Amino acid sequence: MPKCIRPVFSGLLLCLVGVFASQAVAADKINVLIIDGQHNHNWQAATPAVKDILLKTERFNVDVLTSPKAKSPKEAWASFKPDFSKYGVVLVNYHGEAWPEEVNQALEKYMENGGGLVFYHAALFSFKDWENWNKMMGLGWRDKNYGDRITVDNDGKVVRTPKGEGPGSGHGPAHAFEMTTRLPENPIMKGFAAKWMRTVKDELYHGQRGPGQNMTILATAFSAKSGGGTDTNEPIAWTIPYGKGRVFATLLGHDVPATTAADSAALLARGCEWAATGEVTLPAPK
Ligand code: ZN
Repeated sequence: MPKCIRPVFSGLLLCLVGVFASQAVAADKINVLIIDGQHNHNWQAATPAVKDILLKTERFNVDVLTSPKAKSPKEAWASFKPDFSKYGVVLVNYHGEAWPEEVNQALEKYMENGGGLVFYHAALFSFKDWENWNKMMGLGWRDKNYGDRITVDNDGKVVRTPKGEGPGSGHGPAHAFEMTTRLPENPIMKGFAAKWMRTVKDELYHGQRGPGQNMTILATAFSAKSGGGTDTNEPIAWTIPYGKGRVFATLLGHDVPATTAADSAALLARGCEWAATGEVTLPAPK
């Protein structure tokens, strides 16, 4: 090759490599579907906040599917047909009327085939009567007779309280509480401090109830009785396998500031990445 052409050629080559590399990065992005539309929380504010958290990491593409309003006619639900197979992870920002049965079945199949599912804060209120949903979620906002309760004692041992015993679901006034990492080597928790104080007021859920099977508890918070709590370490983040799929739940994020704080945002994004891939590359908060 004549010497004078070589720099042009290698420049072109570098350029081509650059194009392929950026395509590879784009192809690596995880597709997320956020489902919202009905809630006892301000989902209209929360969804853009969650979307922004995910997009800022440059690890995700995000679609949003908004359900019909409550009490909509049945026909309004005809267009609510998520194609779950297009997504690495489905993030639930929904608490409301039951979805059409075919949607429920499609989600179960998606999870059995290896999908990812993320429950965010008050998504735990949803679908008390959907048995497999509750299996996927592990624990939810229920009365004390609904199912078992899972807590962690001061030695780090998981304690199961049978249904009917102990409190049902609740929370004291929102406050800044201390978080405890329970599994520092878990991919989602790796890099988080062993303990850290939240910088925002948030709700500390207690007495969550459910089948509570196969839960891996990643983080807890001590719910002080003086703050309307239970004097126990309540689970705040966990994972559950479902079929070939992966579920992550975080109870942080009552409102936008409580969601976008560095700790809750990182936990949510890392949980989404893990639910989709089983691995975490996103950084832990400083
Ligand atoms: Zn809340």
